[in-house]
Amino acid sequence: MTKADDARQRHAVLAQEIEDLAYRYYVLAQPSVSDAEYDAKMRELSELEGTWPELRTPDSPTQRVMESLSTDFRAVKHLERLMSLDNVFSDEEFDAWSARATREVPVPAWLCELKIDGLAVDLVYENGRLVRAATRGDGVTGEDVMLNVRTIDSVPNRLAGSAVPELLEVRGEVFLPTDAFAKLNERLGDEGRTPFANPRNAAAGSLRQKDPRVTAGRPLAMTVHGIGARRRFDAGSQSAAYDALRDLGLPVSSRYKVVDSLDGVREYVAYWGEHRHDVEHDIDGVVVKVDEFALQGRLGSTSKAPRWAVAWKYPPEEVTTKLEDIVVNVGRTGRVTPFGRLQPVHVGGVTVTAATLHNEDEVKRKGVLIGDTVVVRRAGDVIPEIVGPVEATRTGDEKPFVMPKKCPECGTRLVRPEGEADTRCPNTVSCPAQLRESVFHFAGRGALDIDGLGYETATVLLEAGRLHDIGDVFHLRAESFADLRGFGPKKIEQILTGVEAGRHRPLWRLLVGLSIRHVGPTAAQALAREFRSLDAIASAPADALAAVEGVGPTIAAAVADWFADERHREIVSRIKAGGAQVEDSGPAAGPGPLAGVTVVITGTLPTYSRDAASAAVQERGGKVSGSVSKKTSFVIVGDSPGTKYDKAVQLGVPILDETGLITLLEQGADAALKVAEAPADTPLG
Ligand code: NAD
Repeated sequence: MTKADDARQRHAVLAQEIEDLAYRYYVLAQPSVSDAEYDAKMRELSELEGTWPELRTPDSPTQRVMESLSTDFRAVKHLERLMSLDNVFSDEEFDAWSARATREVPVPAWLCELKIDGLAVDLVYENGRLVRAATRGDGVTGEDVMLNVRTIDSVPNRLAGSAVPELLEVRGEVFLPTDAFAKLNERLGDEGRTPFANPRNAAAGSLRQKDPRVTAGRPLAMTVHGIGARRRFDAGSQSAAYDALRDLGLPVSSRYKVVDSLDGVREYVAYWGEHRHDVEHDIDGVVVKVDEFALQGRLGSTSKAPRWAVAWKYPPEEVTTKLEDIVVNVGRTGRVTPFGRLQPVHVGGVTVTAATLHNEDEVKRKGVLIGDTVVVRRAGDVIPEIVGPVEATRTGDEKPFVMPKKCPECGTRLVRPEGEADTRCPNTVSCPAQLRESVFHFAGRGALDIDGLGYETATVLLEAGRLHDIGDVFHLRAESFADLRGFGPKKIEQILTGVEAGRHRPLWRLLVGLSIRHVGPTAAQALAREFRSLDAIASAPADALAAVEGVGPTIAAAVADWFADERHREIVSRIKAGGAQVEDSGPAAGPGPLAGVTVVITGTLPTYSRDAASAAVQERGGKVSGSVSKKTSFVIVGDSPGTKYDKAVQLGVPILDETGLITLLEQGADAALKVAEAPADTPLG
């Protein structure tokens, strides 16, 4: 066989594969590969056609809008063709694209906007009345989804204002906001149905329902980003058209920006790359358009995409990989957590080999089987998550996960109390996993912050019997490391210095370090402030504990139960004998200096980590919240703040930088109010 034959054959196979994938994606809303894999196949096809131009026939997937049609809906012809977009994935590719676009005409203005990850819908208004709504289809013919589109709140049935055009065809993206997607998947899981792989598929699946009542139950939204046929609608540019569309009551994004240089475009792309998770819906990139309609017309389009616009795609946050096994991990409080071992896969900038599945019910709810191909998502800094299985790739050899009956580390029978989601290993005293995790936690940053006593050191000391549990940590001496490999004098000194520092940490940190269920920094601080000593907390009855603000009955019961266990009391007595600080050294009982003050922290502060800033506020009796409301006292803003900053500006909440935070911590809320900054505008958008 000649090379040309090989290329032809590969081309045919790829084209067929792409055709099948597009059908699964567009018609069934059940993709069997990630977008990145689909894009890679498309790219290979395009490269083959670059080398063998005769393969680039009009019916090649590289030359067509690939959206397939289902027979469930009536087919309708669009007034003007709907196109796809060419993609670029890097600076260099964008440079090459823009060089081509500007070769013939200088472009004075670029319009940049978010590429919404939804599905394209075309709306036709006649004399202001919505008369038709259709999917993109192959660009010429789409599916009639009028009844379903009418259930979308943001799509007006009638245009507003006095300048209503005689005819107007607008295009936009129908999407499902990220929050609504999470809720929908949760509900589907609870009902034993397969969750959607991502918000885009959920939106497509929701819009293309035979029964519009199902669509009506899904909070879809739409943003308009283009116009087709029109009569008595005047606009000279994309941005002017957006202004006019907004006046007509159509949903236009407020995040687009017109810039006059390619550097301006790059800045916009970089900004939204950082902030893509601040947007209420998924975006998969930025769309860059030549703003002026006259120039758009001169540049024209190929059979598939306009030459005056391009999609600059962000790196994928969702991939598929194999779920090789589901195993369990035993945590410091005995909680048994199943997690998936994954075939290593690169997603959201990191290589992922494992992802938690939380608990037994969650495994069932997600419907994943061992051996499945699964969708893995890592959005921003969020921990990687297994979204669900790709059922289409099942071979029949997959196996369901069964929660082990016995602890994999100590063999104790596991328990799952009725009404609780968690399975636990009840052996809190000698289960090696719990000991390892609890020593690591005791010495960790959130608790006593003992420098040098990390996971490995804790494991070695426990295995060698030099440490039995957290009660021994303050009894570590140089001799404890004798004959252990990897512990030179320097390392030992570092650990012992860390242990000494740990002895003097505030009482609340010690309380956190005990690994009592539900007891985190907030509850620990409240208890320490109120009871002033470890002994007083240990002997307090549950109702006295529950009476403390910020504690409540669940935490109180957990604390009382923990101290009621004689083995735990013995550990505490060893901790005390080791010289730990067991009295509260903080301000006198009663509210701290920041009592009643609530702050929200956004962005990166120059020197304080977010944890340290939160702890400093909480130690003084203040609250740290995750969302801004009118009740927020201050928003602390660092570099690259998120939408919390915008919200603070909107609500007029006082804003502090790090210096302002220090004033707040040292001099209190009144002093901080005096230095609070008058809100300024966000850098972009
Ligand atoms: P596309 O989604 O990459 O880009 C074109 C579309 O972007 C337009 O039709 C429009 O609807 C939309 N869009 C969003 N915001 C826009 C804005 N502000 N301005 C203009 N348009 C905007 O191209 P496509 O042809 O719709 O689909 C191809 C992509 O779909 C692939 O790159 C892949 O990511 C995905 N896909 C995946 C599979 C799979 O199996 N996973 C299969 C088929 C397609």
